[in-house]
Amino acid sequence: MKRIVIYGECMVELRTESAQTLTKSYAGDTYNSAVYLKRCLPSSSVSFLTAIGADFLSDELMFNMGENEINTDYVFRSVSRNLGLYMIRNDEHGERNFAYWRSQSAATQTFTLLEETKTSIHCDWFYFSGISIAILDVPQRESLFAVIDELAKNGSKIVFDPNYRASLWDTKEDAQYWTERAYQVSDLTFPGADDHLMLYGHRTADDIFSYLANKNIDEIVVKNGSVGVHILEGKEQRIVPVERVEQVIDTTAAGDAFNGGYLAARLSGKKPVESASYGAKVAATVITYPGAIIPLIDFNNHIPTL
Ligand code: ADP
Repeated sequence: MKRIVIYGECMVELRTESAQTLTKSYAGDTYNSAVYLKRCLPSSSVSFLTAIGADFLSDELMFNMGENEINTDYVFRSVSRNLGLYMIRNDEHGERNFAYWRSQSAATQTFTLLEETKTSIHCDWFYFSGISIAILDVPQRESLFAVIDELAKNGSKIVFDPNYRASLWDTKEDAQYWTERAYQVSDLTFPGADDHLMLYGHRTADDIFSYLANKNIDEIVVKNGSVGVHILEGKEQRIVPVERVEQVIDTTAAGDAFNGGYLAARLSGKKPVESASYGAKVAATVITYPGAIIPLIDFNNHIPTL
């Protein structure tokens, strides 16, 4: 059984239903990928590396991880911090507005707690994102990269999605520096066309491939919404078409769902092109439901397990 460790933050998600009503759930880019990966490949072992608080919402998240069969061996508890939280509201034009309470969250202390508890990570694959880096202070970012170096030395495969969120970084240069460091240690990456446009001004998949050319990455999977997926594996470039969904309900977690499906397919032994088609199918299903993590029953009605 392949073991993957996914590092990041899961928050409370409060979605506005009406002026007086909120719906509560748990989500976060890397957590969404973890849940979808496990749903696609139930035989895999998916561990989430994070820190949560001692508050009741953190307890509920632990329960949620249990329901989703996510391994909690690497979930640390902070006694002084709470779970991060965000709210989503759709305005009168249907545009989504987000508000975050995450800067002091327990997850921002993940690597301090990992070091305090002298925990060492073991896995076949390790996955993290630009958001996972951004939430840490600089000493903990160095700790994260030290952990990754150790894992890579021991043969783990390193997977990275830049997932650029400008508001989480002090400056764009800071984001560029840490994103580049992450690319340099990665074996497989999922650059989003939007991320690279905002972060580097790249306009095409070729721009992205050229930028990444000297970083020694085995497999580059460029996501570009319904336009399609561009894959570069070694010297071979492939384009995987995506069937456009016309009735999009909510694009939250499209990229996360794609990554979860893609990784599940690769872990099960499928080739990159087939894995991209499978990931695209997972993403296309997720965007036809509201919220980041759609009900299991609806998911299973659309997506065959691997
Ligand atoms: P992100 O959520 O990271 O911005 P994208 O918008 O590129 O990522 O979407 C991720 C994946 O979701 C795409 O590669 C594609 O497979 C799928 N997807 C997104 N929008 C659509 C759409 N309108 N129709 C079909 N698939 C879509």
